[in-house]
Amino acid sequence: MRSVSGVRGIVGTDITPELVTRYARAFGTLMLRDDGGPVVVARDSRASGAMLASAVVSGLRSLGCDVIDCGLVPTPSAQLAVEHHSARGAIVVTASHNPIEWNALKFIGPDGLFLDSESGEALQALVSSGDREAGSNDQGSLAVDDQAADRHLDLILQLPFVDAESVGRRSPLVALDCVRGAGGVIMPALLERLGCEVRVINGETDGEFPRAPEPVAQNLGELCEFVIETGADFGLAVDPDVDRLAIVDETGTAIGEDYTLAFAVEFILSRKHGPVVINLSTSQVVDDAAARFDAPVRRTRVGEANVARAMRQEAAVIGGEGNGGVILPDLHLGRDAPLAAALIASFMVAFDLSVSQVVNRNPKYRIIKDKVSGIGAIEDAYDRLREVYGGATCDTQDGLRLSWGDRWLHVRPSGTEPIVRLIAEAPSEDVALSLIRKAKELMVVSSNS
Ligand code: MG
Repeated sequence: MRSVSGVRGIVGTDITPELVTRYARAFGTLMLRDDGGPVVVARDSRASGAMLASAVVSGLRSLGCDVIDCGLVPTPSAQLAVEHHSARGAIVVTASHNPIEWNALKFIGPDGLFLDSESGEALQALVSSGDREAGSNDQGSLAVDDQAADRHLDLILQLPFVDAESVGRRSPLVALDCVRGAGGVIMPALLERLGCEVRVINGETDGEFPRAPEPVAQNLGELCEFVIETGADFGLAVDPDVDRLAIVDETGTAIGEDYTLAFAVEFILSRKHGPVVINLSTSQVVDDAAARFDAPVRRTRVGEANVARAMRQEAAVIGGEGNGGVILPDLHLGRDAPLAAALIASFMVAFDLSVSQVVNRNPKYRIIKDKVSGIGAIEDAYDRLREVYGGATCDTQDGLRLSWGDRWLHVRPSGTEPIVRLIAEAPSEDVALSLIRKAKELMVVSSNS
């Protein structure tokens, strides 16, 4: 599957060394238009990762691009490596939270941010046209950087918000699930150096995911049990490329990945005032956290690249996505699970509350996600929704988002499948479900009329 953010699919059938080399050469061609600097290559722990990363390295070097291979590291460590090496960009071989048989390429520009849609389209055009930099006969050099994760860890511990001394005094017991992804190379060491006592499951980095790797509540049963078994203060789970973090409370309940950003926002705003940037599908628990500090919240199109760029524009103090992706500009403009873990641990210690106490202080919402296919003209469907929901606040940056105080509905076409996604949040499940049901009815009616 191609999208502006890259290419992903099943290894062997969709994702082959030939295809990956073609993408690497297209990316190298695009990046050679800028001056200087090597290209960083990194990967997560999937079994196909080393083989595909070799193909990426070869593709880049064949154009004369110098390559720095960071090996098996979290995606945010690779983003920071771009800045560290003043690189032209990076290619990360990872299918993030997708199933074990998948792999994909993520493309990072010279600023350490994921390519914007314009550069993403330019890349896809180069792949399709087969145009290559005429290039020199010199092959690019290859250097190994095995310090990217360690530097990342050091930078997190140096943040003014992260107080290892206070955390160490309390020494919370943290149960950690790294899903045998790239988290194993950084998460246990980070939490230990922060002063936590750490118990780890799935810390191996062999890519043999023991469960569906997305850190959503329904996939975290093993960690929930492990929290109870160890008597941990809280549990943390990451996805395979370590840009998303989810929390399990002290009773062994997965609280839902939306709370990760809400906790981080509350902690940062208690230290520093300024705007918060989130995407249009992020839970209102983040708005509630920002409201405690009268901080303005700006919502953007879904996708890390969109959120990160809006954060730069708004000079946001924190932001991210409701799927457990926390972005702190003081570190860098990328979703970063190790950073999120350090902020959550610091927050729990500084506020001296349990996870369930923090959750229970705030209003509760239910988010319902659904999809619908066979819609005719999407603009007609939007018009019908707007007409019926005349009193709602409308946002058309990314599909259509309608909101009313404590509830909202977001309808947007999928970038990769011929379906329209619907997501609704409301104080109760019944209300969220009825928003979805009504919207589906209206959208189908509008396509038949
Ligand atoms: Mg990920």
